[in-house]
Amino acid sequence: MIIGAGIAGAGMAYRLAPKGSVAVLDMEAQAGYHTTGRSAAFYAETYGGPKLQPLTTASKGFFRAPPEGFSEAPLQGPLGAIHIFREDQREEADAALAEMSVLPGVRVLPAEEVLRRAPYLKPDMLTAGIDDPDCANLDVAALHQGYLKGAKAHGAQVLLESGLESAVYEGGRWQVKTRTGALTARVLINTAGAWADQVAERAGVKPLGVTPLRRTIVTFKNPQGLPFDRHGPVIIDVGEAFYFKPEGEGYMVSPADETPSVPTDAQPELEDIAVAVDHFERVTGATVEKLEAKWAGLRTFAPDRAPVIGFDADQPAFFWSVGQGGYGIQTSPAWSALAATLVLGEDLPEELKAHGVRPELYSPARFR
Ligand SMILES: Cc1cc2nc3c(=O)[nH]c(=O)nc-3n(C[C@H](O)[C@H](O)[C@H](O)COP(=O)(O)OP(=O)(O)OC[C@H]3O[C@@H](n4cnc5c(N)ncnc54)[C@H](O)[C@@H]3O)c2cc1C
Repeated sequence: MIIGAGIAGAGMAYRLAPKGSVAVLDMEAQAGYHTTGRSAAFYAETYGGPKLQPLTTASKGFFRAPPEGFSEAPLQGPLGAIHIFREDQREEADAALAEMSVLPGVRVLPAEEVLRRAPYLKPDMLTAGIDDPDCANLDVAALHQGYLKGAKAHGAQVLLESGLESAVYEGGRWQVKTRTGALTARVLINTAGAWADQVAERAGVKPLGVTPLRRTIVTFKNPQGLPFDRHGPVIIDVGEAFYFKPEGEGYMVSPADETPSVPTDAQPELEDIAVAVDHFERVTGATVEKLEAKWAGLRTFAPDRAPVIGFDADQPAFFWSVGQGGYGIQTSPAWSALAATLVLGEDLPEELKAHGVRPELYSPARFR
């Protein structure tokens, strides 16, 4: 029984349904209502650092060539990223370049080349950029729906508006109470994102101390007079103070905020919206007249900001798949494959081994 039908729960259901009897519960009427439906939807291979990177790299093959019939739409599209920096950010740029240099095609772009590819940037706002040509746009809805459709085709039940209220382990089974009724399960899988600790507590399992961090996004039409390229790259400040990418006829901008929050239906705060717009206006010199949309979501991190994937050290029928942070979409194919392997007690798939995925790095036992 999987608790949470976001990308983490849907991915697990997809991997496990062919091998057993699977139910996925979500408290909302719509799967993907929380963080999964609120992401910036891109794939940046070294984003998140060395513990995340093997899972991201090992997911690339699935995004490029998903299994037959998985999705009618392609799961990824070209985007490209340029990490811009000023002279006073040289140290951060060197560190970013060192981390990214494991990727093909990564190189420093002189300012003239950055400005040729992104003519909307103000020349005095950058010294140079780092090119990451492999950064891709992801179709989160196609991925999420593909997982759910595939899971249902193998008999998985997806139960919406069925939040877990309590779970008691007795006689080798979980007795689970939900808003809509009682169920039993051999194993509980916690993919509840920001609510991961709450779900653990409701099952009598010691929480890990995860922290949901709010992140904001705004969208607007391209300001009048500013050159625009709908196929342009995502522009990322090397210190991650902000990023923006073309979206429709304009931009999607995030101030890359990380404000601690309780698990909740996150809403954007006026101050974060203003900071997002201010960053965009400063680096382009343009004026944003009117926002089209604004939203916020919770990126949830374990205390060491690394993934948590494995059975609980004290309750062996309780499995954690949490702490996806800001990388839960781009890592999801490999993350779900690894998590399913551990649930089933199978050997690590060769493809994951080949990309350097080491399950011991993610064990929840490190917090006990
Ligand atoms: C602004 C923003 C930008 C991002 N950009 C990117 C990006 O570009 N690339 C990337 O890879 N990632 C990105 N992320 C991160 C990514 O969106 C998350 O890592 C991922 O969506 C987490 O998925 P999840 O399934 O763990 O959580 P969620 O989607 O939140 O799913 C958890 C589910 O658990 C359910 N639940 C909670 N409690 C219960 C209960 N008691 N019973 C039943 N169900 C319950 C909830 O209703 C929810 O549906 C971004 C996130 C944000 C907010």
